[in-house]
Amino acid sequence: MDPCIKCGLPAHPLIAPQDGRGVCRQCRDYRKIEYLGRDRLLALLDASRNPRGKYDCIVNVSGGRDSAYTLLALVRDYGMRALAVNYANPFTHEQAKRNITDMVSALAVDLVQFSFPGRLHERILAHNIRTWFQRPDPAMVPVICIGCKIIWPEIVKIANTHGVTCIINGGNPYEYTSFKKLLLGVPEGAGLAETYLKNVRGLLAGALGNLAYLDPRYLATTAKAYLFNNQYALGSRLTGKRLRAIDLFHYVPWDEATVLHRIRRELGWDHPRGSGSSWRFDCAIGHLKDYMYLTTLGLTEKNDFYAKTVREGVMTRRQALARLRTENRVQCDRIRELLSSVGISDITIAQP
Ligand SMILES: [Zn+2]
Repeated sequence: MDPCIKCGLPAHPLIAPQDGRGVCRQCRDYRKIEYLGRDRLLALLDASRNPRGKYDCIVNVSGGRDSAYTLLALVRDYGMRALAVNYANPFTHEQAKRNITDMVSALAVDLVQFSFPGRLHERILAHNIRTWFQRPDPAMVPVICIGCKIIWPEIVKIANTHGVTCIINGGNPYEYTSFKKLLLGVPEGAGLAETYLKNVRGLLAGALGNLAYLDPRYLATTAKAYLFNNQYALGSRLTGKRLRAIDLFHYVPWDEATVLHRIRRELGWDHPRGSGSSWRFDCAIGHLKDYMYLTTLGLTEKNDFYAKTVREGVMTRRQALARLRTENRVQCDRIRELLSSVGISDITIAQP
């Protein structure tokens, strides 16, 4: 079946069933993004200014494009005294590391980096990759990222140490992959609380179907990830009541051209040529996730992302499909390097 005639999303019985005209359900039900607005953002930022301390806010940076722009905008456009915080993810691309060094230097911002002892991230990643490949299930792909789902409590600690109450992220509304929730049994239009509970229920059901996910060696970390996977999760909301978590692009529109133009010109930001997309090149695990989704669903998070840009009218269907032809080519070499770095040599990766 051809991709949706409007947004280009590949047909899929659960994710994107099509009507008789070839239009997918996501297009039929689509509600345009509503930004909360610059005035509301300014009010929140002003309430977070902290004249008695050294910093007004923390900005989480990964070396990727949106968090770089967020730091730039907060410092240069909004006059916030930001502390950059970075989880030194062991799978970070060298270029992303250079981007972090360059951005904090260009903006004269302090940087705090943290990591987990005992190769925790590497060990749990290797375990979950092996478990996933025993029974490939697209609904369980998110568990591959457990190492980055336990960073929130660390960021909260850093905020408390510096007396900061405002934490700013570069999340944007295009990247909330609709199909992940559908795969876990969360209905479209579910509220925050329902989404969280049904997500956890769906992940638990998946784990019960493949019990190695509940290996006692990693159970505490897995449980922590379920409770604190982002600022909206149950544990985060209970423990971080004093904290204000803001996603810049929930307030002001995300525009790819502006983001890339400014971070390149003002911060010297770059991404490796040949990595396909400038989105999410920073972590090698992203390529593995593309592979997992392509081989089980026939589409990736990028299909979902670009379908949204088409529905929003910021890209044509033809432009989106042209990008996907390049960007959905799996970076097999980087995946093999990743697997080998965590001691896996018996999983074969070939271009789907
Ligand atoms: Zn569509």
